[in-house]
Parts: sequence; C-alpha cells; structure tokens
Amino acid sequence: MNASQSLERTQFVERFRGHKVTRFWVMNTYLIEEDDGLTLIDTGMSGSADSILAAAQQLGQPIRRVLLTHAHTDHVGSLDALVQRLPDVAFLCSAQTARFLKDDFTLAPGQADTPLKGGFVRCESTPTQTVKPGDHVGSLQVIAAPGHSPDHIAFLDTRDGTLYAGDAFQTQGGLAVAGDLRWRFPLPAWATWDMSTALATAQKLVDLKPSRLAVGHGSMLENPVSAMKEAIAQAERNFRDQA
Ligand SMILES: [Zn+2]
Repeated sequence: MNASQSLERTQFVERFRGHKVTRFWVMNTYLIEEDDGLTLIDTGMSGSADSILAAAQQLGQPIRRVLLTHAHTDHVGSLDALVQRLPDVAFLCSAQTARFLKDDFTLAPGQADTPLKGGFVRCESTPTQTVKPGDHVGSLQVIAAPGHSPDHIAFLDTRDGTLYAGDAFQTQGGLAVAGDLRWRFPLPAWATWDMSTALATAQKLVDLKPSRLAVGHGSMLENPVSAMKEAIAQAERNFRDQA
C-alpha cells in the first residue's frame, strides 16, 4: 500500500470537533469548534438560549455563527433570543429556510406538491448570508437534504467526517429515515413532508460515508454507514407497503 492509499483510508482521523447540547432528553443542538470560535447548528425550542450559551462558556469559546438545518419550530425556537444576545454573530441558513422564517412557504420549482407538516414559527432574525449545497461554512460542507422538510440542509465536517443530519434521520426511538415512523418517538415522522424525497436524500447522505451521525433527535452514532443502509432498506419497505 502506498502513502496516498493509507491517507485515503484514514481520511477522518481527526478528533471529533462537535459538542452536543441536549434539552428535554430529545432536542439536540451542536456546537462545533473552529479556529475562530464556535459554530452552532440549530437553536432548539424557545427557551434554549441560556443552556446553549452556558455550554459555549464552558468550552471557553465565543459562538461566531448560527446555522440552521431547517425551519421547524424545535430547531429555530431560540434563534431570535441568541441573535439578540450575540450581536456580532453571523446567522446562516438556506434561502428557502429564510423565506419559511418569514411565513413565505412557497415551494421551489420541482419540489413535490405535498402539504408541509410540522410546526413553523415566524422569526425576526434575517440571515447575514444564505448558503446553498456545496458551500463551505468553516469546516462544514453544506449538503442538500430535502424530504423531512423542503428547505432541509445537512452539514458534513470535512475534518472528522461527522454528518450533522438534522431531521433527515432520527436515532431517538430507533434509527430511522425521516418519515419512517418509530412509535417510541413518532414526532419527526409526523412532521415529515415528503417520504420519497426523504429516501433519496438518505441515500445521498449514506453515500458520503460519514464517520459519525449527529441528528436533531437522539444520540450520536459512530461508524453509522451500515446501520443507515439498513434504515433505508426498512424505510423503503414501509414506504412501499403504505403506497
Ligand atoms: Zn423537523
């Protein structure tokens, strides 16, 4: 084996740079270390600002950026409070998430004409910048991940291979593709917009071969690829049975 092959095999050897902040057992946000401070992924339900700021303080680093996976209430509920309390923070989300936050729920051309599900809440904050798939925010690559909601994006940490998948997958109540019901934690499935889009996204996400899966609801999963593939096969069966 030559040096480049061995490098390829160990491309995600760097230590994990994320810190999970969980409220009410099942609501996750993540603080990701960057050279200049922290990037926050999602803001939790309203009332989560104090615990997120306390976690950042414990890490001894300022929150520089707030990123959103999608516009559901339990991910954006503390956005305004955090932006108010962090006056220099950059706020980044997809253009469609930005519209959803202003009660504009128009779908993009080509998106399934299926009713939106789950809770949305109007926010005062306007992004300092919108992001699109392929963009990089610090070490995080933006990945298109529609299905759970049309505006959903995910983030791959290109250093350690962690996939911040938002609600494209859940692990609470059992690993599942968005929309594939787990009775022990049914909320993400009930809030899922379009199952066939969610399945296509799940396949794209597993193709990234993440070293770690970090989701909006549930614990993190190390070396998740084979479990993700099983969850996709199970979702395909269940989706077919429902159709
Ligand atoms: Zn959601």
